[in-house]
Amino acid sequence: MFAGKTTALCEIVTRKRAQGVRVMVLKPVGDTRYAADAVVTHAGQCMPAVPVGTLDEALTIEADLVAIDEVHFFGHAAVAPIDALLARGTSVTVAGCDLDHFGEVFAPFDALLPRADAVRRIAGLCSRCGAPSTHTERLLATRERVVVGGIGDFVATCAACFRPMVR
Ligand SMILES: [Zn+2]
Repeated sequence: MFAGKTTALCEIVTRKRAQGVRVMVLKPVGDTRYAADAVVTHAGQCMPAVPVGTLDEALTIEADLVAIDEVHFFGHAAVAPIDALLARGTSVTVAGCDLDHFGEVFAPFDALLPRADAVRRIAGLCSRCGAPSTHTERLLATRERVVVGGIGDFVATCAACFRPMVR
């Protein structure tokens, strides 16, 4: 959260396109925080993205690389379509939160991490002490696992400052 994951994804997409790679950028249809049809970083940078309800829609796309932002919105349903893309030779790059607000592994990262040939963990700063952040603490009073949040709904924290939501 607020660590620069989307920024990093945009950098990869920009670099690959400059190399002639056909890239399709996807985002969950529920994520309309800034724009329905673009990936937008918290700093306001932007690139066009196709909003999809499920990643099965990715299987109809002609691309060398499918880049998916906020992949945790799709949960474990992301795994089969990603496997299908990889099996046909399409590269996949994803960005998302790997720990939820209970401090537990956020699906589908439990399944995707062992499949990945490269992983880049990006830490922001703990909002309480300034150490590198690993956790996302939810300030909203809801128990839904997936919530579209902006600034003020979540804070990034380190493990020591993290206060998991009570179940
Ligand atoms: Zn801290």
